[in-house]
Amino acid sequence: MFTGHYSFSFAGKALAGKDNEKRIPLWVLFLAVQWIDVMWSIFVLLGIEKVRIVPGITASNALDLYYMPYTHSLLGVLCWSALAYVVCRLFPQLRGTRTGLIVAAAVFSHWILDLIVHRPDLALYDSVGKMGLGLWNYRAAAFALEMAVLFAGAALLYRTAAHKARLAGFVVFLAALQIFGTFFFPPPTSDHAAAMTALGSYIVLALMAWWVE
Ligand SMILES: [Zn+2]
Repeated sequence: MFTGHYSFSFAGKALAGKDNEKRIPLWVLFLAVQWIDVMWSIFVLLGIEKVRIVPGITASNALDLYYMPYTHSLLGVLCWSALAYVVCRLFPQLRGTRTGLIVAAAVFSHWILDLIVHRPDLALYDSVGKMGLGLWNYRAAAFALEMAVLFAGAALLYRTAAHKARLAGFVVFLAALQIFGTFFFPPPTSDHAAAMTALGSYIVLALMAWWVE
């Protein structure tokens, strides 16, 4: 899953409420929902986690994610979520009663959505007990889910958003990006290319979220 993850950034921001408007910046929630993929990109570039490109392995993309115990195991994502909570407690402006929990939940939400679309490549811990419901095997259905969650999350925030037009434009841009990613993007040429593309996208989209807000 790619842009669907941002549903939980928008929902988290909406949940934080108006009083906390400035407390959780949207860009922080954009990084949070992709955090285990950000670390995955870095770990793949460092050779710590492994992916190989196998065109056709799912209808939606060509990634054989055969070793990612530190970022995408259930134990791994629980640790990253706990760390996100602790980091929020360290920053006075993020130390609201609920903000740490919202950011931690945003980090964890990534794994839940991945569980629906991935092949069984998400382990309980290490490489043990791999899970994945495999919706990526059905390209149209995977795409429809991605759009449904993205728009649902954005709709939650829209009512209270300060810059409604910017937000709407941004969501349309994310949807267009997803259409391109699902139906037109060629398979990456290598594991490092896949990691660089992912990392670059997450950073650029977080910067755009900062601008939108
Ligand atoms: Zn992921």
